Amino acid sequence: MAAGMKQPTRILILGGGYVGLYTALGLQKKLRLNEASVTVVDPQPHMTYQPFLPEAAAGSIEPRSVVVPLRPTLRRCHIVTARVRKIEHARRMVTVSAAGHIEEIGYDVLVVALGSVARLLPVPGLAECGISFKTIGEAIYLRNHVLSRMDLAASTLDPQLRKRLLTFTFVGGGFAGIESLAELEDMARYACRYYENIEAEDMRWVLVEAAGRILPEVRDSLGVWTVEQLEKRGIEIYLSTTVKTFEGGHVLLSDGTEFDSDTIVWNAGVKANPVLANSDLPIDSRGRVTCTASMRVEGLPEVWSAGDCAAVPDLSRTKEDPTATCAPNAQHAVREARLLAKNIMTAMRGGTPKDYYHKNVGSVASLGIHKGVADTFNVKVKGFPAWLMHRAYHVSRMPTFNRKVRILMDWVVAGVFRREVVALGQINDPKADFDLAARS
Ligand SMILES: Cc1cc2nc3c(=O)[nH]c(=O)nc-3n(C[C@H](O)[C@H](O)[C@H](O)COP(=O)(O)OP(=O)(O)OC[C@H]3O[C@@H](n4cnc5c(N)ncnc54)[C@H](O)[C@@H]3O)c2cc1C
Repeated sequence: MAAGMKQPTRILILGGGYVGLYTALGLQKKLRLNEASVTVVDPQPHMTYQPFLPEAAAGSIEPRSVVVPLRPTLRRCHIVTARVRKIEHARRMVTVSAAGHIEEIGYDVLVVALGSVARLLPVPGLAECGISFKTIGEAIYLRNHVLSRMDLAASTLDPQLRKRLLTFTFVGGGFAGIESLAELEDMARYACRYYENIEAEDMRWVLVEAAGRILPEVRDSLGVWTVEQLEKRGIEIYLSTTVKTFEGGHVLLSDGTEFDSDTIVWNAGVKANPVLANSDLPIDSRGRVTCTASMRVEGLPEVWSAGDCAAVPDLSRTKEDPTATCAPNAQHAVREARLLAKNIMTAMRGGTPKDYYHKNVGSVASLGIHKGVADTFNVKVKGFPAWLMHRAYHVSRMPTFNRKVRILMDWVVAGVFRREVVALGQINDPKADFDLAARS
């Protein structure tokens, strides 16, 4: 850079998920040459389109199709594959770790897009026996795990062990919980045709929800309808019930029901990324970064935040509730990110950023092949049309043309050749054979 020339503004984006990817895409499209450099930090080299994780777990979509690789997509950005450990805005410095090595990255403008993590409760055995359903790794693991439980159950003569292997427990009746349960049950039911000694009735699928209803994102009547549909499929649903213990895979519910289960999937809510506690940013009682409606962090004009980790006022609801903030969902994350990119550029060029406003347009959920539920634009839709809407909506939202086409092709292939239900169990323990060879 020649002396006297203005240095490009250093924009640092923490997290390459919905908010991180869309903000970076917006910036790389609109920034003038040498106006700014954009760096994205994420421990994963890809963004994950989470609403498609249940279909990836069920084998309707290839896992690679539901992730968007950051490097080829963000060609004008720098990608740092590392985990953020600390944010010190007073020094304009972020500490990251990569391959065990600690480094510091400086910035002029910071975007905090670190998302959320599973909210665990102090239930004995949960940390040891449970798994959540938030990442592509967890979706792949659960697919292989469920199918390998069926393989093992079909091969054992021990009735108690078989029962335990074929009992699948899901906790949490929000979208992630219901979709993952419904899609995996649908896949396992389909897979039964290839097992001479497993019928759908031999499997036990259990949902436990602390509230008195499921799917709070849709109207009560649709929540009730979904419970009825799942119960018709033989899924046991325990509402207004909590889990007392999971110790050793033994599940004890608050109503006294107990059983053994080899699969425990925990989807009981999310909380803001805990790394935010290791920062000097203003944080609310739920651990989220407190923001203004233009997504600027309160009192810090060079710092912006949005998505699951941010408390952004929900202006569509502040009349009824002045403290309302945007719910942690993709609907907000994507729209926030698009405006965020514009606001950052406007602020850099001396303008006034706009406030974020979005009125919820409803929700769609898949409950297995040809089954769904939707509540959008005040219209309730059930069954096959809702499932079609789910697919159409999400494929239209999937970032990049490349991924849209891949997903459509995956659906066509799965439709023509039937879905693939083989467990690649070794993925969950790839070193087992090598360790055995080393010991022999
Ligand atoms: C199974 C499932 C289904 C869903 N279905 C729907 C749906 O149908 N509709 C809907 O509206 N919403 C849905 N959601 C919610 C939606 O996906 C989230 O609200 C959305 O992803 C939030 O975007 P975000 O950018 O805030 O977080 P994310 O997209 O989660 O991005 C956060 C990023 O931060 C990275 N990160 C984490 N820790 C660090 C660190 N220490 N350092 C650096 N980077 C880090 C992560 O790797 C990730 O890439 C679903 C969620 C799940 C789990």
